[in-house]
Amino acid sequence: MTERLDKFLANAGFGTRSEVKKLIKQKRVQVDGEIPRNGDGRIDPEKQIISVDSEMVSSQKHEYILLHKPAGCVTATKDNRDTTVMDLIDSRIKDRLFPVGRLDKDTEGLLLITDDGPLAHQLLAPKRHVPKTYYAKVSGILPENVCEQFAQGLDIGDEKPTLPAELRILERDPEGISSEIELTIHEGRFHQVKRMCHAAGCEVTYLKRISMGTLKLDESLEKGAYRQLTAEEIEKLK
Ligand code: URA
Repeated sequence: MTERLDKFLANAGFGTRSEVKKLIKQKRVQVDGEIPRNGDGRIDPEKQIISVDSEMVSSQKHEYILLHKPAGCVTATKDNRDTTVMDLIDSRIKDRLFPVGRLDKDTEGLLLITDDGPLAHQLLAPKRHVPKTYYAKVSGILPENVCEQFAQGLDIGDEKPTLPAELRILERDPEGISSEIELTIHEGRFHQVKRMCHAAGCEVTYLKRISMGTLKLDESLEKGAYRQLTAEEIEKLK
């Protein structure tokens, strides 16, 4: 259902219609990333992203949280033994939220938490091959042709070899104690990064996800901290 932009913002608590007009004039309002000329236009809050000062305005249907997952907690909504990623989140609608995909207990980094099922489905659908990039430290000597091995796909003991993945060696340790790599994969198999490294003769000693699709880990977020996605981040992810 469409409604006037100024009425929508006034109802969402941004002041009277004339105060809202001022916000629009100051170019602090965006509709799907565009700055509207005035508040007369009709918008569909169910389908469009309205933001003020880059913060998404609710009647937003969904919540989108970017968590910097620390090691030591499990990616689950409930667990009898371990702290879960949801224990770190304080939200009015916590019961509806869930993590998009899974990071191992000892993996750190970017985890999206939302109540937007269709978006989660889009990001996780195997056919979409949404890229996920990881930073890792590995022990063991990296084979000379390791980038080619990852690019060709590796046999990690599954029915099919992995899809081509992009490996960048950030620091090669000739002694094999600790090399640093960045790896982009286009699937989400169980322990995939660890198993790929193992197949290439190395072991992951530290793992951190730094991006998923267009979404990047905000390095200013401390481990265990989180923030809402900006309207722009949500729009780019969809
Ligand atoms: N690959 C892994 O091995 N572990 C993760 O947590 C994520 C990807």
